[in-house]
Amino acid sequence: MTTRFIKRKKEASNIYSYYFIKPTNFKYIAGQYLELSLNHQNPDKRGIKRWYTLSSSPEEEYLSITTKHTKDGSSFKKALFDIKKDQQIKISECYGDFVLPKDKHKHLVFLVGGIGITPVLSILKTLKMSNDQGYIIDIIYLLSNLDELVDLSPYHDFINKLTIIDTSKLNSLYSSKELIKYLNDHHILNYLIYLSGPEKMIDTLTNDLIANKIDKNKIISDYFEGYNQV
Ligand SMILES: Cc1cc2nc3c(=O)[nH]c(=O)nc-3n(C[C@H](O)[C@H](O)[C@H](O)COP(=O)(O)OP(=O)(O)OC[C@H]3O[C@@H](n4cnc5c(N)ncnc54)[C@H](O)[C@@H]3O)c2cc1C
Repeated sequence: MTTRFIKRKKEASNIYSYYFIKPTNFKYIAGQYLELSLNHQNPDKRGIKRWYTLSSSPEEEYLSITTKHTKDGSSFKKALFDIKKDQQIKISECYGDFVLPKDKHKHLVFLVGGIGITPVLSILKTLKMSNDQGYIIDIIYLLSNLDELVDLSPYHDFINKLTIIDTSKLNSLYSSKELIKYLNDHHILNYLIYLSGPEKMIDTLTNDLIANKIDKNKIISDYFEGYNQV
């Protein structure tokens, strides 16, 4: 289906949200993703299509995605940055199971790497719009550059505990050992664990969590291909 671009909003250094018209009867659940096709001149070998998690809430009037721009970015990202008001793009329907459980009694922890914050934004916006304080949500937000921190203060009432970790100060990239010790010390290993971020981070943490006897069924993950670090 097609949609039209409305506006761009800066969220943090290099991090922007892009807003689009929500097509009639377009349905999704907070935390889901879609495929976006952006025709542009001279696309590089990575092409014109990308997957994006919606950072908007299904309760909102518009759809939004949130992404990171780098200096040596793809032709797709350059075209996205230069997109004009009312320009048409194609989107798919939404997919994914990185969504809140029906059971509100489970304690949840979102272990997020950098731009992996996008599904969490959608979920927090949705809870805020329906003033749903029924979930107990902890967020551990890993960033290699604190300038790229997306402000979560508007959702303060819906977050039980927010921990921001500057990974540039850790010994290894995702420092699973330190992270798992932290989770263990704070009894977080019993929670339902949502992992969202670069593919390498998700793979490393999933393997390390399973090696630490965490039940696979308690891990829900959303990996973002195309990024090397948080
Ligand atoms: C289910 C799912 C959900 C996702 N949700 C999101 C989301 O919400 N937000 C989000 O930002 N991303 C998301 N992604 C990732 C997204 O699809 C893109 O892969 C990502 O934005 C990177 O975009 P890009 O390929 O245009 O590279 P860029 O962002 O432009 O660059 C990323 C890195 O790749 C390098 N690079 C750029 N071009 C090339 C090239 N031609 N050859 C080699 N290296 C290159 C750059 O140096 C940079 O380090 C998601 C992916 C999946 C699978």
